[in-house]
Amino acid sequence: MDKYLNDVMAEELVLGEERAAVAKFGREMLDKGLTEGVGGNLSQRGADGKVAISPSGIPYGRIDAEDVPIVTTDAEHVEGELDPSSETPMHTMIYRERPDVGAIVHTHSPYATTFAALGEEIPASHYLVEFVGTEIPVAKFDLPGSEELGQHAVDALGDEYNGCLLQNHGVIAVGDTVEHALETAQMIEYTARIHYQARNIGDPIVLDDEEIEALIEGLDEYRNLK
Ligand code: 13P
Ligand code: ZN
Repeated sequence: MDKYLNDVMAEELVLGEERAAVAKFGREMLDKGLTEGVGGNLSQRGADGKVAISPSGIPYGRIDAEDVPIVTTDAEHVEGELDPSSETPMHTMIYRERPDVGAIVHTHSPYATTFAALGEEIPASHYLVEFVGTEIPVAKFDLPGSEELGQHAVDALGDEYNGCLLQNHGVIAVGDTVEHALETAQMIEYTARIHYQARNIGDPIVLDDEEIEALIEGLDEYRNLK
């Protein structure tokens, strides 16, 4: 058992496992180069419906489980001394619209954000786009932290997509756990990098929707999620 879970058990925190996961995978997000500085945020919904979300503007290396605030899905701050992420409206709007989503990761990863800066969706030039859907869509720009941005993210994700780009900003990835959402964020960055490289030396071949849909059908089994 790792240090953070040990800490949690010692302190018997409310939503201890979810808060420990947010602390642990925040560090991983930074270590994997998926964000810079204090950029990005992540959250995990608990069995009681409340959400453990990273605190706003705190370096990931300094966040431990007890520092992770808890909010309701109406964005009310109910536990923890630090302010919850400024993107709490976006996270809670996604949870309200998508009952299948248990965790959300928001990154500023560089290749994916390059396409976000162009406002271009990423097509299926690599099959691992399957982690998200038949392509990676783009949510329209609005101010970071605004409900308008949250609505654009909800619209881009729809009922099916497991991720999207945020125009001129970054990336959203969703999943059942924060670990799986982070894995999807990593696949978004990888897919973006391959598409960027392929575009630099030629015209990428884009796979058909039917080919990707067939892959998506087998994906949960491949990831041992069912
Ligand atoms: P927070 O530190 O408030 O979570 O904000 C970071 C960010 O990426 C805003 O979009
Ligand atoms: Zn951001």
